Amino acid sequence: MAFDLIIIGAGFAGLTAANRAAESGLKPLVLEASSEELYRCNSRFSTGSLHVAFQPPSTESATLTKAIIDNTDGAARKDLAEAIGTNAARTIDWLKEQGAAFEEHPRRTDHMPMLSPLREMRAGLDWEGGGANALLQKLGQQLIKRGGELRRGTRAQNLLYQDGKITGVEVVTDQVSQTLSTRSVVIADGGFQANAEYVQQHIGCDISQLQRRNAGTGAGDGMRMATEIGAAAVGLDSFYGHVLSRDAMTNDNLWPYPQVDLICATNIVVDGNGQRFADEGLGGISVANTIARLDNPLTATAIFDSRSWEDAKTTDNVPPNPSLPDAGGTVIEADTLRELAVAANVNSAGLSVTIALYNEHVAYSAGEPLSPVRSQSTYAAQPIMDPPFYAIPICAGITVTSGGLSVNGKGQVMDTNDQPITGLYAAGSTVGGLEGGPRAAYVGGLIKSFCIGLLAAETIASVHGSPPAN
Ligand SMILES: Cc1cc2nc3c(=O)[nH]c(=O)nc-3n(C[C@H](O)[C@H](O)[C@H](O)COP(=O)(O)OP(=O)(O)OC[C@H]3O[C@@H](n4cnc5c(N)ncnc54)[C@H](O)[C@@H]3O)c2cc1C
Repeated sequence: MAFDLIIIGAGFAGLTAANRAAESGLKPLVLEASSEELYRCNSRFSTGSLHVAFQPPSTESATLTKAIIDNTDGAARKDLAEAIGTNAARTIDWLKEQGAAFEEHPRRTDHMPMLSPLREMRAGLDWEGGGANALLQKLGQQLIKRGGELRRGTRAQNLLYQDGKITGVEVVTDQVSQTLSTRSVVIADGGFQANAEYVQQHIGCDISQLQRRNAGTGAGDGMRMATEIGAAAVGLDSFYGHVLSRDAMTNDNLWPYPQVDLICATNIVVDGNGQRFADEGLGGISVANTIARLDNPLTATAIFDSRSWEDAKTTDNVPPNPSLPDAGGTVIEADTLRELAVAANVNSAGLSVTIALYNEHVAYSAGEPLSPVRSQSTYAAQPIMDPPFYAIPICAGITVTSGGLSVNGKGQVMDTNDQPITGLYAAGSTVGGLEGGPRAAYVGGLIKSFCIGLLAAETIASVHGSPPAN
């Protein structure tokens, strides 16, 4: 059986590309490494919030493009950012045509479309009844109806590349190798967050000191295969993740939710010496990246007061108060900062100096500028003054890597001379050049999957002389 295109990975990126190609009359084969019917992948675990750099996809295209460029401090590839900005709204329309439904989160005011039904939004994993799981199954079923194939239990190992173009893929099924011929390959294997060696090499942190906040897939196979034949990889040094209770390292009820991001972003995080080490005001994703690179990431502690703990009853998808202690996460409460430091195993004198400087700065705009600097344009810093005082031992949760293969606005994988590699495409978390930069910007894992999946399939359809009807 000959396939017009082979897609590596059956997450949202892979199944979007496959369905869009099949709509154009092409015959796609999707390879999925896992043999399970409800194979675990980040798409299935997703909360389902469809945004572009935290703006609704229906926002005017130039505004979305600018948000991507600005958030990444210019690190994003311009043609890719423009492609996302221009095509985000119609990506939602296409998803609705596939049967996806959207609703708004009852506690959020950002009007972000979220895949319906909303997951339960409780501590721990709760993907079973959620809209992401439902949509993934729907896309798989539609692919079959459209004449495509989804082959589970088959792992892509190597790309076949001859005379400057892709000719096929080497795969392994039940320990048996096989080569499959095709003109076009879409890599959609979901990033490299599960590859300890790559995480150490590119992000500079020890994966054993981070909490996995993902499906455990994404071993970087796609990046390895593509770079072996000359593809360029970009922006590999950051990840999308969140700050979690340190107890998540041993308690599965504490990931992917509740997050401690907002408590950190509006207060301080300190190391064992009681000293700040991050610009908390950049938000939880940036703080998680900074924690991950500490010499001892498992000493990080969030410090705050009664006002913030009261606020934490209503903030975030899963408010940490009371879900975090209810799920077994440590929350230390004390009447004085000294008692708090002792109970939290943080140097008391160091913490006292840190909080005095911090309070002076944020409550009275007095004193020297803080070091590290404390930005306040996104999250206002709250003074830590109202007892009782609180500490949460925290850790960095890694969801998915931000960098990956260099891809242009048509979904084509670029070589090290920034020229498209004939027949090679990528979508989803395999793609670099859209996120990251100095502040570890997050543009949105879902839009990266759905939108670039569509674009790659449409480019392949044009190359095959079979452009989509709409
Ligand atoms: C808990 C959680 C919540 C999230 N919430 C949101 C959210 O609200 N909004 C948002 O925008 N993003 C969110 N994300 C991120 C988003 O889910 C992902 O970025 C996106 O789904 C990635 O899709 P993908 O298709 O690229 O990868 P995946 O969904 O990970 O799929 C990749 C697939 O490739 C397979 N594979 C890997 N290697 C091979 C190989 N060699 N051969 C064959 N198959 C292979 C894997 O088994 C996997 O099934 C969340 C992620 C998590 C974990």
